[in-house]
Amino acid sequence: MKLDIVPLSKWIPNLKKPLVIAGPCSAETEEQVIKTAHELKKNDDVRIFRAGIWKPRTRPNTFEGVGEEGLKWMARAKEETGLLTTTEVATAAHAELALKYGIDILWIGARTTANPFSVQEIADVLKGTNIPVLVKNPINADLALWLGAIERIAGAGIKKIGAIHRGFSSYEKTMYRNNPIWKIPIELKRMLPDLPMICDPSHIAGVRDLVGSICQKAMDIDMEGLMIETHMSPNDAWSDAAQQVTPDSLKEILTSLSLRTEFSADRNFEAQLDELRAKIDRIDQELIDALSMRKNIVTEIGKAKAENNVTPLQMQRMGALMEKRLSQGQSAGLHADYVKELFDTIHEESVRIQTELMNTGLKKD
Ligand code: PEP
Ligand code: MN
Repeated sequence: MKLDIVPLSKWIPNLKKPLVIAGPCSAETEEQVIKTAHELKKNDDVRIFRAGIWKPRTRPNTFEGVGEEGLKWMARAKEETGLLTTTEVATAAHAELALKYGIDILWIGARTTANPFSVQEIADVLKGTNIPVLVKNPINADLALWLGAIERIAGAGIKKIGAIHRGFSSYEKTMYRNNPIWKIPIELKRMLPDLPMICDPSHIAGVRDLVGSICQKAMDIDMEGLMIETHMSPNDAWSDAAQQVTPDSLKEILTSLSLRTEFSADRNFEAQLDELRAKIDRIDQELIDALSMRKNIVTEIGKAKAENNVTPLQMQRMGALMEKRLSQGQSAGLHADYVKELFDTIHEESVRIQTELMNTGLKKD
């Protein structure tokens, strides 16, 4: 599906990179919303004020947001500061209310993106409006589901659409609350080059100390914006207390970012880069040739295995192969995880080729 997406510079006046969206996880009181918005307004980098009005909490009997009342506070914050406002909508009713109170930009949360029925309900409400919508990645690492939600919003005629990478939930405990899988937003951007890509380091991190380094990573892969949860007194926040930063630390994080551009004005640098890239292209071709040769040998082995009724997967061989490759990789200065992942993939493909051979009747009975 070809989507008609308006670039970010056409919907945010005087856009500067990164586009910064900041504000508390949740709107708690009118005073908190207004004070925070004024404090953030002092920071020229902040363009959009965020606050959750309806909170999708994992467990019941926790704070689930102030509801409709909070939309009036957002409208007041906008009127007094001139900041654009954004909030999460998870149902058709939320979308109707957000439109009614003049919220400028809507976002669809990770749990909602994972539910096509809810996304479609929201899209149906938005038909005929031109309100911008930011679609967070689904909770699970599923690119098609993320793309599908974007397509549903686009299908309602919305052209100002952006995506937010907020990491993916995993059963294993890692250093992140939600693991970032950078190749997924990169692939989405490759598929939809005009789609603005924003990073939400707060929900990736889960703890405020990691927020800065995740922002830098997002800048390094050329993401266009950052949504950073910011609270006047983070430890007292009614939701996501551990990951919110103060307006002062937000300022520090933003000023310490090094912003690299995709292209340089220096001709020598560009020429040097072209030369190095040509080398990479040649090496990649050699890798492809080597993989193709490997595949031919794997096929030979597969035929021999089929004739001798031997299983494609031989655990002992696999263990020995991996051990040897890891030690070869180490001598060559390659990261062990990288070598392991690479050879897991290569070996998996060999087993797939050989299994296919067995099943397509090459086996002599
Ligand atoms: C939020 O932004 O506060 C939120 C609930 O986000 P997510 O949908 O990414 O969990
Ligand atoms: Mn939050």
